[in-house]
Amino acid sequence: MTPIFQTSTYVQASPGVHKGFEYSRTQNPTRSVLEANLASLENGKHGITFSSGLAAMDAVMKLLQPGDEIVSTNDLYGGSYRQMRQVYEKFGIKSTFISMANAENVKQFLSEKTKLIWIETPTNPLLNIINIQTICQFAREKGIWTVVDNTFASPYLQNPLDLGADIVLHSATKYINGHSDVVLGALITSSNELGERLRFIQNATGATPGPMDSFLTIRGIKTLHIRVQRACENAAIIAKHLQSHPKIKNIYWPGFKSHPNHHIAAKQMRMFGAMISFDLHDDTFEAANAILEKTHLFSLAESLGGVESLIGHPPSMTHASIPRAERIAAGLNDSLIRLSAGIENVEDLIADLDAALAD
Ligand code: PLP
Repeated sequence: MTPIFQTSTYVQASPGVHKGFEYSRTQNPTRSVLEANLASLENGKHGITFSSGLAAMDAVMKLLQPGDEIVSTNDLYGGSYRQMRQVYEKFGIKSTFISMANAENVKQFLSEKTKLIWIETPTNPLLNIINIQTICQFAREKGIWTVVDNTFASPYLQNPLDLGADIVLHSATKYINGHSDVVLGALITSSNELGERLRFIQNATGATPGPMDSFLTIRGIKTLHIRVQRACENAAIIAKHLQSHPKIKNIYWPGFKSHPNHHIAAKQMRMFGAMISFDLHDDTFEAANAILEKTHLFSLAESLGGVESLIGHPPSMTHASIPRAERIAAGLNDSLIRLSAGIENVEDLIADLDAALAD
């Protein structure tokens, strides 16, 4: 097993003559193994890890200058939205949030100032699918970088660098680690220039993961393919089961043929993911709460992508930082419930949901 180098500094042979490692903010042997592993999983050249997914995003934002602009999907993780709006706008970096369900729609929002396109697909929480290849193509023609947050798919299902993305971001907290015991983020790129600049930012700003978390993430990755495979199979059965439930108004899962971008998901993903969202005919917080408080196997908690199934209420949890009017405009209704299917026995999971949805 990769040892846990619980080490902050390394003995040098002579002043300035080190043996490959100087100080653990800059390099740590356990972290280096994880970074090489992640680069390989995403078919990239450089893997750069951070103390969280949002710290990884922060490093991307630091590639920009005041006056630069971002065009981002309007249905994305609330913390990513918050960072763009509440942290970086005051430094003169403006973000525009638009629907990318139709890739052509993105073109009209690009200007001379656009430096970055921020894609999250499948989106959190409405599981929209964005055509990575098409958007990356016209971004590249204009010299704009594309970043794809691949957290919801994991590298087992989707590899955005192969579709033309410049940088892939992961909250490795989710599927990559998979055991709900680590918070960690990663960026992967094949560009030497971006790799070098992001590596510089990693060291210069210092939000690096520790060796224990790097070790746990390496261990989690060993079962990534088995976990994600099983979680996707469970999600497919659950989504089809819930589809005709009388209390459910809209159900979102890219595997349904009726999903508007099902054909794109079928092309750019290997399976349809293990996340399902739905809202209720009784579109209130109270109606959602009545279900959220009743499940036993689906634990009520933020996050996703672990071996245990989770249930959550994006409007009051993961996406509470988005103002209600903007949330509703993006289709994120008050009663929206999000499921992260785990790897448990699917019949037990269905029985749990049926009991919670019963009157
Ligand atoms: N991106 C997505 C899609 C997420 O769901 C999350 C967290 O929920 C993040 C990024 C942020 O990652 P972290 O919580 O590791 O900072």
